Amino acid sequence: MYNEKAYNLGANRSCIRDLFEYGQARAAVVGPENVFDYSLGNPSIPSPPEVNDAIRAILSDTDSLAVHGYTSAVGDLKTRQAIADDLNARYGTAIRPQELFIAGGAAPELCAVFRALTVPGAEFLAIAPFFPEYRPWVEEAGGVLKVVPPDVPNFQIKLDAVEAMLTPNTCAIILNSPNNPAGTVYTADTLKALAQLLTRKSQAYGHPIYIVADEPYRELVYDGVQVPFIPTIYDNTIVCYSYSKSLSLPGERIGYVYVPGAATDSAALYAAIAGAARACGHVCAPSLWQKVIARCAHLRPDLEAYDKNRRALYEGLLEAGYETAKPDGAFYLFVKAPGGDANAFSEKAKKKDLLLVPGDGFGCPGYFRVCYCVSYEQIQKSLPIFRELIREE
Ligand code: PLP
Repeated sequence: MYNEKAYNLGANRSCIRDLFEYGQARAAVVGPENVFDYSLGNPSIPSPPEVNDAIRAILSDTDSLAVHGYTSAVGDLKTRQAIADDLNARYGTAIRPQELFIAGGAAPELCAVFRALTVPGAEFLAIAPFFPEYRPWVEEAGGVLKVVPPDVPNFQIKLDAVEAMLTPNTCAIILNSPNNPAGTVYTADTLKALAQLLTRKSQAYGHPIYIVADEPYRELVYDGVQVPFIPTIYDNTIVCYSYSKSLSLPGERIGYVYVPGAATDSAALYAAIAGAARACGHVCAPSLWQKVIARCAHLRPDLEAYDKNRRALYEGLLEAGYETAKPDGAFYLFVKAPGGDANAFSEKAKKKDLLLVPGDGFGCPGYFRVCYCVSYEQIQKSLPIFRELIREE
């Protein structure tokens, strides 16, 4: 006997994983240099050298039991203090370590937050295009995920659509900026207008509607674009941050949840998140990595390689006649499929060993995602194939 819902989640792999594994299999046949795999968002720039220096220093300076032992479930105080100091220096805030909960990256953080917010009938809004894992995470928490249609072609937020979908059961709206898969950054104007709407509706319903800000890409922005820090715009924001992309550490599992003291029911919310994490088996975030972050919270990635890829791909695709949102952040381009059918287009591309993810799973059919965390050579070699494909439409 086993759980049918869990079985379905495990047995039906994501389309992204399928494409990635197809690419690996093709690489064994035609050679990795002939497969143009744009499927997976695995960082392609190394962590800043200070990260490995920190590991070496911790291993040589700290006694082994302390390095590898359990920490407090909410995270080492030193780590939370270092993160608070960094945020306060950047955003002029007065965040205290008690408002931070250290966990294993955005995925488990979001799961804990969704569980902490879910009451019977709870609804969450996601803005298309959105990260597909929100659906199983919200549903497993017992909530209902409702998807706000995309604001094409700029991929900001359609406020009238949000307003029409809010109900007294709405507990939160999930935002992801810089966005996977669109590469767009929600502007301060967009966020201020959303905050006004949510404030008005929270008053009308007699309970807060929280923003859950999923922020693994906060540091990945180009051309001087600023990512607004949403808690400075809307108090009822819960931030789920991750070092997976910002410090290129996706396999290490480290990040934090920030619950602002000014949020409604802040202390109870923090306890509920800790409790939800506990119920999912959270004991503490990896101890060594907490110690690394205590030394490295102030570091920022060197984005030169991503930016070079971004420019080459964006300009190359525009020249070839593709339409795409302006990629201000993250490492994704979201491109309108020539012919309108992204599944058919990505199947044609696959036959030429060019691997593109159709937008359907992100709630945005008719577009495909290109992850440009790849080598510059891959981009140069694949642009002629993109040109060929659009000519064939
Ligand atoms: N949210 C978004 C939008 C992502 O793209 C990802 C990973 O790709 C995650 C959350 C999960 O990130 P983490 O590695 O921090 O769990």
